[in-house]
Amino acid sequence: MAKKKTLHCSFCGRTEADGATLLPSPAEDACICIDCIETAASMLGMMSDNEQDGVVARARANSRQNGKAPARQEANKPIPKPHEIKDFLDQYIIGQDQAKKYLSVAVYNHYKRLDQPVGDDGVEIEKSNIIMVGPTGTGKTLIARTIAKILDVPFTIVDATVLTQAGYVGEDIESLLTRLLQVADYDVKRAQRGIVFIDEIDKIARKGDNPSITRDVGGEGVQQGLLKLLEGSVVNVPPQGGRKHPEQPMIAVDTKDILFICGGAFEGIEQAIAHRLNSSFVGFSTDAASRKIERDRFMSHVAPQDLRTFGLIPEIIGRLPILTHLLPLDRDALRRILTEPKNAIVRQYVKLFAMDGVELTFDPAALDYIVDKAIEFKLGARGLRSIVETIMMNSMYDMPSTDNKKFTVTAQYCAEQLEAAHFDASAV
Ligand code: ADP
Repeated sequence: MAKKKTLHCSFCGRTEADGATLLPSPAEDACICIDCIETAASMLGMMSDNEQDGVVARARANSRQNGKAPARQEANKPIPKPHEIKDFLDQYIIGQDQAKKYLSVAVYNHYKRLDQPVGDDGVEIEKSNIIMVGPTGTGKTLIARTIAKILDVPFTIVDATVLTQAGYVGEDIESLLTRLLQVADYDVKRAQRGIVFIDEIDKIARKGDNPSITRDVGGEGVQQGLLKLLEGSVVNVPPQGGRKHPEQPMIAVDTKDILFICGGAFEGIEQAIAHRLNSSFVGFSTDAASRKIERDRFMSHVAPQDLRTFGLIPEIIGRLPILTHLLPLDRDALRRILTEPKNAIVRQYVKLFAMDGVELTFDPAALDYIVDKAIEFKLGARGLRSIVETIMMNSMYDMPSTDNKKFTVTAQYCAEQLEAAHFDASAV
């Protein structure tokens, strides 16, 4: 006859013979005694909500790392080819062909690198982080976000300006990995294949050429800190972020397979490019069209040394080997952005109205008017949405309560609505 196993508490080890009252778990052989339940409950009771969340997050991460709750296997999905990535980007982003092409190739290679067989040929494909240079509101974030969508990997955006060296006011550099962990639902493996978009990288440029300028906590110090992450290293990340919970247990995240995409306006970089090319930048030309042609011409020559002139340290530049540029959006591009992308602003409003059974149309003249206003107020693509939102506010308020089944937005209606709302471009 099989001998009955002696049950014991999986935490303190005591058996019923030792006086423990045991509660068996559905899992084979695992038990917990009433005393240990009480200890655990009182430990949780002493913790703040945040600390409790931290413990739970850590436990989840550990169990996933141990393979109990397997991470979703992006690796098993076929990697989309550069043409497919670019085609996908084309559905959402107007223009910016060079940037879309470069990013498609870089991302494809990056994920190929992750799947590279561990062979004995001695060839190891190195990581290719990316830097995009271009004016604000031209689609840098949108490109990075859309790429994350096609790959279905965790994606987070951080603003370089909030990062500071440890010990100074601001966010520690590791906090950007906290966010990645959070969007990956604390699945460490998944986070380690994610994409981090670091915006406004130009704002952490070195403040001057003089290396003796100390306490440059928002500049070179942050660049040095970022370098560690870009290079690929194991970083201890506070699961709740911030410095408010110094006692929280850390989660180790390896950044070697995280793709970093940096973006920055690098305002005035054209002059540096022109200087390097030994040609004068006629930035004071009165003719707007020729100014634009010149700027575009120079931007297409942007090279790593121009970033250096701008104040990025050579080590950081070396870790961002893919350099591409975005061009300012002209009138035609703004007009197309209103209607063409899959997620275009106009399409979104048509859908909103359709849900109330109303057929919404915009007169072409109304669209021209909206673009004119975005240009007049110097708001670029980012302003298109706020302008349309202001124009549509009253109709969105009234329409669901009327029997109207059709609504056409005219240029005159746009003008009336903007005027009545005292549209304030400076608030955008
Ligand atoms: P950046 O990161 O370059 O400052 P964003 O990508 O955040 O600019 O752009 C702001 C918004 O403007 C986007 O969410 C999008 O609605 C619109 N937009 C900007 N550029 C484009 C573009 N090339 N194609 C389509 N929409 C764009």
